[in-house]
Amino acid sequence: MDSECIFCKIAKGDIPAKKIYEDDHVLAFHDINPVAPTHIIVIPKKHFPTLNDVPEKELNILSKIYAAIQKVVQTTKIANKGYRTILNTNKEAGQEIFHMHFHVLGGRPLGTMG
Ligand code: 5GP
Ligand code: ZN
Repeated sequence: MDSECIFCKIAKGDIPAKKIYEDDHVLAFHDINPVAPTHIIVIPKKHFPTLNDVPEKELNILSKIYAAIQKVVQTTKIANKGYRTILNTNKEAGQEIFHMHFHVLGGRPLGTMG
């Protein structure tokens, strides 16, 4: 828990968010500024600033996150049509919130990677 971190505050319930999935380790909620009809943020409840900061022995959090994503894409009905998962790491990738998170985007053609 980082007391200054927005996503830690959301995980704790101190800042409201439109939650879509939650378990002991993972939380998924709607992005406040969606760039696609479905835009979900999926976070570990534990604070890791970036992927680079996850110790190898704790990398099983990634399978928990992907398990949550599997559920979220069913709930939002984008599982079969298609969706993209994005994990931005550090400034050149556009990371703005330094609590590791996945974006799940869908609901429109997403184009190719650029
Ligand atoms: P990044 O650029 O770090 O990969 O993505 C951060 C994402 O978090 C952005 O898409 C932004 O819209 C979203 N975001 C930032 N603050 C909040 C917030 O307080 N609530 C929610 N639901 N999303 C947020
Ligand atoms: Zn945090």
